[in-house]
Amino acid sequence: SRPLLELEDVKAYYRQVIGPWKRIVRAVDGVSLKIYEREIVGIVGESGCGKSTLANVMMMNIRPPLMLIGGSIKLYTSKGIVNLEKYDRSYIKSSIWGKEIAMVPQSALNALMPTLKIKQIVYDAVRSHIPDIKMEKVVELIRNRFRELGLPEIAIDMYPFELSGGMRQRAVIAISTLLNPRLLVVDEPTSALDVVTQKAVIKTFKDVFDREIIKSLVFITHDIATVRQIATRIIVMYAGKIVEDSPVDDIINKPLHPYSEGLIGSVLTPEEEVKKRGIKYIPGQPPDLSNPPPGCRFHPRCPFAMDICRREEPPLIQVESGRFVSCWLYMKK
Ligand code: SF4
Ligand code: MG
Repeated sequence: SRPLLELEDVKAYYRQVIGPWKRIVRAVDGVSLKIYEREIVGIVGESGCGKSTLANVMMMNIRPPLMLIGGSIKLYTSKGIVNLEKYDRSYIKSSIWGKEIAMVPQSALNALMPTLKIKQIVYDAVRSHIPDIKMEKVVELIRNRFRELGLPEIAIDMYPFELSGGMRQRAVIAISTLLNPRLLVVDEPTSALDVVTQKAVIKTFKDVFDREIIKSLVFITHDIATVRQIATRIIVMYAGKIVEDSPVDDIINKPLHPYSEGLIGSVLTPEEEVKKRGIKYIPGQPPDLSNPPPGCRFHPRCPFAMDICRREEPPLIQVESGRFVSCWLYMKK
């Protein structure tokens, strides 16, 4: 299968200055990954592990205090390969976003301008990519897309506050994919929604994927139980790094990394069993990314930590077909 986006050893840090103090927060610290055509990749981890920063890096949406320190971000477009890190923001904004990659950011639910009708919001957004497009053309595009995704066409003439939370989120998905971007990146799209509404939103993502409106989807969330319903592959992040990258069924049935095991166990074990057996998944806290522990960043919380784990960082290696893990347990055989 053909790659769509390729990150190589990407480092993106926040530079924080508080009075005389300077801190560097290493939110994305040496991440390599490939997104292929026709897959849905879930990126999971606790809050503060660098997931949202990684989403912004994939889009090359990098603004101070976030800085790209190193690495490359290759996008495979219909016209050839583009190294995003070599271009400035205005080029990326006018030529890449919306058309090649689109993003639904974490706050999208509330980001729609409350004083504008849906069609005006979309018109303004599309004009930033296609300056001379007419309102009638935009309305036609939205109408077709809403129809295709089973959204009520009448919503085009409504204000965002007139729509329910779930409908607003589905409208955001329809709008973000209006120009058929090859890749859609979404950050916590279902977190603020109840279970029934979550299902409708997940269905809309499946629809834009199955109808090939988009080629691939990257779904960022702390909620592995939700993303497993839709993902074909799961990438687990911990403390700014990828610790495991596996097909969804493999990682659910047999997680390789001790952190993946804890994360999956804590979500998918029935509550009574947890109580009865007194299981405690992943005690402790994720580290401060301005001062991460040496060696494996998970070692202070890992029940299997060995001497080498405290000294040396484990590389991400392939251990089975399509399965990658970063853990010394898999290097010593
Ligand atoms: Fe645990 Fe060591 Fe593996 Fe890190 S490298 S997850 S500390 S066993
Ligand atoms: Mg986040």
